[in-house]
Amino acid sequence: MKIKLYGVRGSLAAPLTNQAYSEKIREIVERCIDSHITSQDQLDDFINKLPDHLKYTVGGDTTCITVTSDAGHVYMVDCGTGGRVAGDELIRTEFGKGKGVLDLFFTHTHWDHIAGLPFFKPVYVPGNLINFRSPYEDLEARMIYQQVKEFFPMPFHGTASTKKFHHLQKDEVIEFEDGMKVSFHPLKHPGGSYAYKFEEKGKKFIFATDAEFTGDDLDMIRNMSQFFGGVDVLVLDSQYTLDESFAKFDWGHTSYTMAVNCATIWGIKKLVMTHHEPAYNDRKVFDILDEVIEHKRHLGGAPLELILAREGMVLDL
Ligand SMILES: [Zn+2]
Ligand SMILES: [Zn+2]
Repeated sequence: MKIKLYGVRGSLAAPLTNQAYSEKIREIVERCIDSHITSQDQLDDFINKLPDHLKYTVGGDTTCITVTSDAGHVYMVDCGTGGRVAGDELIRTEFGKGKGVLDLFFTHTHWDHIAGLPFFKPVYVPGNLINFRSPYEDLEARMIYQQVKEFFPMPFHGTASTKKFHHLQKDEVIEFEDGMKVSFHPLKHPGGSYAYKFEEKGKKFIFATDAEFTGDDLDMIRNMSQFFGGVDVLVLDSQYTLDESFAKFDWGHTSYTMAVNCATIWGIKKLVMTHHEPAYNDRKVFDILDEVIEHKRHLGGAPLELILAREGMVLDL
């Protein structure tokens, strides 16, 4: 399966500001002055060796990911503002011809996980089938409510695609025709949230945001090993620094260090940290990555790969 991250910002979209952009340019030019670049190869090498906070931006769009099975079927989890970009890509495939079928799962319906849906072009194309899947019995009502005329000009059912709602039952495991198996697990978050596990040909991927794990939850974390244990790739809520997580106790999100603790307990192979705090700039987010690599070393060097989620990232497994 192939996973693509379209939105990794938490809570609220946070585009790169002009000030942050100017700071990046200044830092890059200062490094460039001493490097005496005289060829294209040297320029490529210079860019490749830039620190991550200058080479990349983690991006400003909120949660949306796609999972594409080996057979080519597209699954999506959440439709935050990153859903606009995902839709623009999908519209260039069978979804542009009204022949697309999308299985769209929702972790929950906080704004940052649904706000991209009115801007998701495939829902406007007649002939496309969108299967809305979640454990929320009233998901359709929530989608309709987001697009009442006081909030958006086009009502949800005014869009031309066919929409079907599938209410997932407790402990249900969906087995799709292409061999993909999807299961889900509740997470601690105000108003509730669910993690989704995708399994194909022995490979396991879990997407788990929004979720709050703290030092008080160690028993709960261990009890979740049956669902989370031994997964190849886990994309997990890691919104805050440890200090900020104490100040924002009960806000429903996890610190980077606690995310590493969870991944270590569950024996995860690759942890992808997501739902970045909108107030953190690229420099701060990438500095945090350095800190958690150090934290992992203190935990005893479990064979855990740590990655910072950034917009447009593709993970193959
Ligand atoms: Zn969120
Ligand atoms: Zn939330």
